[in-house]
Amino acid sequence: MNHAPPAHAPITGFAVDGRELVVGGQRLSRLAARVGCTPFYAYDRALLHRRAAELRAVLPRTVHLHYAMKANPFAPLVCAMAHLVEGIDVASGGELLVALDAGVDPSEISFAGPGKREVELRQAVAAGVLVNVESTREVTLLQSVSEEIGLPARVAVRVNPDFELKGSGMKMAGGPKQFGIDADRVPAVLSQIGASGLAFEGFHIFAGSQNLRAEAICEAQRQAYELALRLSAHAPAQVRFVNLGGGFGIPYFPGERALDTQPIGDNLHALVERAAREMPSAALVIELGRYLVGEAGVYVTRIVDRKESRGEVFLVTDGGLNHHLAASGNFGQVVRKNYPVAVGTRMGAQPLERVTVVGPLCTPLDQLAERMELPRADVGDLFVVFQSGAYGASASPQAFLGHPGCIEVLV
Ligand SMILES: *Cc1c(COP(=O)(O)O)cnc(C)c1O
Repeated sequence: MNHAPPAHAPITGFAVDGRELVVGGQRLSRLAARVGCTPFYAYDRALLHRRAAELRAVLPRTVHLHYAMKANPFAPLVCAMAHLVEGIDVASGGELLVALDAGVDPSEISFAGPGKREVELRQAVAAGVLVNVESTREVTLLQSVSEEIGLPARVAVRVNPDFELKGSGMKMAGGPKQFGIDADRVPAVLSQIGASGLAFEGFHIFAGSQNLRAEAICEAQRQAYELALRLSAHAPAQVRFVNLGGGFGIPYFPGERALDTQPIGDNLHALVERAAREMPSAALVIELGRYLVGEAGVYVTRIVDRKESRGEVFLVTDGGLNHHLAASGNFGQVVRKNYPVAVGTRMGAQPLERVTVVGPLCTPLDQLAERMELPRADVGDLFVVFQSGAYGASASPQAFLGHPGCIEVLV
């Protein structure tokens, strides 16, 4: 089939029918016709279900799995995820409304993020969701909001631990950070919470994101558990939840391999046993965004021009970094690398040619693939970016350059 060396991480989740990629059970050209326009994001329900089921198979039954909807807040997808997890983690008042609409039980919604506005805290208290407090200001505000509404705010303390998640794409803990409350200050905040009559429920320790090393994740989970256990000695009430964070990554780039979840499951089994003895009132929670949804999504564009410049072939598509900032290499990456891509209407076709695929924006930053060996493609073919179910549409500057927005479908 394809004789070129793999220029990106292998993609295994999607089937091929003839020369066409199959997404949501449909050949891509038919799906594009059904959607009615390009570009679009498509999320494959069956892959969402498969991912959740495979993860459940290694997790202890008592561990609560939460979906962090920042990764993909598309409302139909959040509704689908609500049936696959115990809870949803939101990071704004806007996300909170989507989660409530999805029918998630407020007892299992938690709200994290720095700089929560008073109106957002009021929304959270009125909804009855758990607020992961990130500063003493939030505790003070929650006290007045609780009095106003006549309901004690449910709170957990988000801790900025003294460790980090090693090898993460994004570090969100350890050292000076805007997230959470430094571990050494937490006992004082716990007594503030106790004195203010808020309903204390636990700890939230989220150390980092996009990690492909199981051992690093296990170590961070052990450290998070032990930190929560130490801090529980200062807790003003029983600890009901210990959120150990997440950080499970997916492979994007050449040389990266899928995360092995078995050791993480084994580690969590050991922590669940310890918790049963050492913190019997507490449920352990993990919260995942990208890992649950990232591999189930594709971004689909149509090739609208084919050009040659000084010996190189350029394919120009009808969408690019305005819809998919991350695939262009401009969402937190240090060095631009190619996402896994394909010509979705010429799967496995020959001959191959070396091409650069660009979007329609008038900026050199708008690249979807740089000098990759792909089947020879023409105007009208559909170009696909894999690993696009997380940090895609909602994490891209759709207004930049005034092109049409993209639509999203769950199929
Ligand atoms: C961003 C974030 C997540 C999700 O991270 P992923 O890498 O997508 O799994 C979870 N929890 C918190 C607090 C976050 O900020």
